[in-house]
Amino acid sequence: MIPFIDLKTQQKHIRSKIDSRIKRVLDHGQYILGPEVKELENELSRFSNSKHVLCCSSGTDALLLGLLGLKLQPGDGVIVPSFTFASSAEVMPLLGAVPIFIDVEETTFNLDPTKLKDTLDTANEMGVKVKGIMSVGLFGQPADMKPIKDFAIKNDLWVLDDAAQSFGGEYDNQKVGNLCEVTATSFFPAKPLGCYGDGGAIFTNDEEIYEIANSSHVHGMGKSRYEYDRIGMNARMSTIQAAILLEKLEIFPGEIKKRQEVVDNYNKHLSKLNLGLKLPYLKDKFKSSWAQYTVILPDDINRELLQEKLKLKNVPTAVYYPIPLNEHKPYNDYPVSKAGLETTYKLSKTVLSLPMHPYLQEKDIIYITQSISEAVTLIK
Ligand SMILES: *Cc1c(COP(=O)(O)O)cnc(C)c1O
Repeated sequence: MIPFIDLKTQQKHIRSKIDSRIKRVLDHGQYILGPEVKELENELSRFSNSKHVLCCSSGTDALLLGLLGLKLQPGDGVIVPSFTFASSAEVMPLLGAVPIFIDVEETTFNLDPTKLKDTLDTANEMGVKVKGIMSVGLFGQPADMKPIKDFAIKNDLWVLDDAAQSFGGEYDNQKVGNLCEVTATSFFPAKPLGCYGDGGAIFTNDEEIYEIANSSHVHGMGKSRYEYDRIGMNARMSTIQAAILLEKLEIFPGEIKKRQEVVDNYNKHLSKLNLGLKLPYLKDKFKSSWAQYTVILPDDINRELLQEKLKLKNVPTAVYYPIPLNEHKPYNDYPVSKAGLETTYKLSKTVLSLPMHPYLQEKDIIYITQSISEAVTLIK
């Protein structure tokens, strides 16, 4: 059985180092806000070239803390892609704010900057004052930051990047974490940089955003422990997860290179199939952390049947995401850009993610390619 994501092989390489890191935490006993958390924040700051890093309890909490740092108020609007994971949009209503759904590009699966103007106009027509844009680096490739930032500057908006999948990626030699006002990432085990539980972090060069997020992640703490400056939450990262991430971060750059090799191999073999599959496309000047390897199926291949046949051949696949966010009941009443969501709807019916991890061997990729070829012959 080929694993969809292989965390065991990675663990085998670094198990003894992780064991001794965990042992050190058990020895010093500072399970909450222990020294490893600060150490990890410093390392992540060095890795991303972002001035401030705050580790926290999950990627979703990182998004919330980012919005708190940006002082998002009830009733404010935030433009967010409709083709993404629930977290990207759920944090706005949690703060009483309004997500406004925008379509994505078919080539990159990311926010389509050419639709920003229509989307802002839609919000204005509905009386929603937009304060910012949430970009998402879906499947690992960062969103097209240059046009997004140009639009944001022109319209006095901020950009919060949901880099839960794209941390480790780059744009124009700048690391994700340093591409806009605030970046949030997730260390959920299956993400490119994952821990062994829940975890996340925010990145910013802005002192005030950092201070608010830092205070908010410990109940709105002020200068001393039991003095409160604001309403906050409990969103600390556990010390043991920080200790594990310190070891994983060491091998992360090498793993990103390996992921690129896996993608090159996939592209090489799958492009020979002539089945009309659209393979992942990396824009010029972009580097992806390749959280997923996602192809677009042509209309004449039934996705469900293909998944069934591949499962019989022990090739696991996944669909991210089968339903546009705006179609889910809790999101039904939020505004949709008048530019429409045509690409989101198309992708939700045609995307398919194949097994993806740094340790995927070429022989496995050849097997997966053959299995796809055989499965398609069976179902067509
Ligand atoms: C995983 C993910 C999140 C949420 O991260 P958690 O750590 O699970 O809270 C947010 N956005 C995207 C795009 C994700 O893939």
